[in-house]
Amino acid sequence: MIGDPLFDSESIAGRVAAIGAAISQDYRGTTPLMIAVLGAAARFVSDLARALTIPHEVDCVSVTGYGDGDGIVLEKDVAMPIGGRHVIVVGDTVDTGLTLQYVVKRLLERGPASLAVCTLLDRPHRRIVDIKIKYRAFEVPDVFVVGYGLDYLGRYRELPALYAHGTWPV
Ligand code: 5GP
Ligand code: MG
Repeated sequence: MIGDPLFDSESIAGRVAAIGAAISQDYRGTTPLMIAVLGAAARFVSDLARALTIPHEVDCVSVTGYGDGDGIVLEKDVAMPIGGRHVIVVGDTVDTGLTLQYVVKRLLERGPASLAVCTLLDRPHRRIVDIKIKYRAFEVPDVFVVGYGLDYLGRYRELPALYAHGTWPV
């Protein structure tokens, strides 16, 4: 089911360092709030936070019903007010864009000073809604990806690299 890594841990570390440096420069003089979309982005956001050289905060949300566009619900909300904050939403994968579009919409209602999207993986050719991505680590083809926090039905999150799984979850 799992073959050679699509991206090994050195490549991931390199992209995380580059994005961390870009965020540190772009947000210099501010204290951005990174909001991770749990659970698959947990590892990415914690590595990214370590790569920042500016003050920052980390919070998280979780959503259910992802993927099919119907009934996406904010299952867990942020703990702190985000009005006036510079928010960076950190997701694992932007595929159709429906999940992150929903999260972005809900957060924008609260008047952040700015809001940008950062994703580990991106499949731009699969997009069905328009969503602007400011930072992304990797573009991936139409394969289901696991490892580095990403799961297949609860499995493989612990793998240090990103792998293609042979099938998509049903
Ligand atoms: P979208 O709403 O953009 O179509 O889908 C995004 C969500 O679907 C992601 O947050 C993730 O939970 C899930 N997803 C999409 N592609 C993959 C993938 O290749 N691997 C894993 N583990 N989850 C994925
Ligand atoms: Mg998942």
